[in-house]
Amino acid sequence: MEVSFVGKRALVTGAGKGIGRDTALALARCGAKVTAVTRTQADLDSLVQECASITPVCVDLADWGATEAALQVVGPIDLLVNNAGCASLQPFLEVTPDQFDQSFNVNVKAVLHVSQILARGMKARGSGGSIVNVSSQASQCALRDHAVYCATKGALDMLTKVMALELGPQQIRVNSVNPTVVMTDMGRLGWSDPEKSKTMLSRIPLGRFAEVEDVVNTILFLLSDKSNMINGVSLPVDGGFLAC
Ligand code: NDP
Repeated sequence: MEVSFVGKRALVTGAGKGIGRDTALALARCGAKVTAVTRTQADLDSLVQECASITPVCVDLADWGATEAALQVVGPIDLLVNNAGCASLQPFLEVTPDQFDQSFNVNVKAVLHVSQILARGMKARGSGGSIVNVSSQASQCALRDHAVYCATKGALDMLTKVMALELGPQQIRVNSVNPTVVMTDMGRLGWSDPEKSKTMLSRIPLGRFAEVEDVVNTILFLLSDKSNMINGVSLPVDGGFLAC
């Protein structure tokens, strides 16, 4: 299956590392004009070094005002990947208000905000668009020490559905991908302990964690016109974890 994004303008959040970085590079390889958003300038510098056509935007998405200002100067966007996310793991009884607010600010509130800004432009131009939110298997299955993270991703799945409902008439499709563990910086935080990873692996019928490429390919499919009739879904990329 050939996917081309020639003539499309894409924005990827959390594009400094991990899934977001490889998504930005893959979109550029497929012909899209890519804007990469993250909060660490050094990551943007190395990304632009790797792919000179990428436009970097450095902003902390947890900051509503700074995000508004940073995205006002970004031109029209057809394809949006809300990928930036954070995970801070702790037992339920030890969750603090700060950890709760930081996680919801990045994983949910920033998705709402960035999508509002860019979908307004898509609607005004009348040319439609596609938005992919990077959720998690944790949206649908309880994981120990993940109370806040699971809650943010559960909220994100429902936000995805309501966005699909309200933006669909403008031909803006909104879907999520819901990966199992991927051994990025974030994945290593939760699953480096061999005992923990063994237990998780035993619950994945395919017997392995997802590769970054598995997630990126699914994001590209949902962004592309190959998925033109898919709207409002939360698509697991989990080797069957959620099926069991
Ligand atoms: P990484 O930690 O490897 O990368 C996350 C990227 O998001 C980094 O570039 C980070 O920048 C950026 N980011 C985080 N917070 C902010 C912020 N406030 N403002 C701007 N940028 C920010 O994570 P992954 O690639 O693993 O995760 C990407 C997405 O996939 C997340 O939404 C995550 O929840 C989801 N996911 C990940 C899984 C995994 O096992 N890895 C499994 C399922 C879902 P910086 O480094 O500067 O903070």
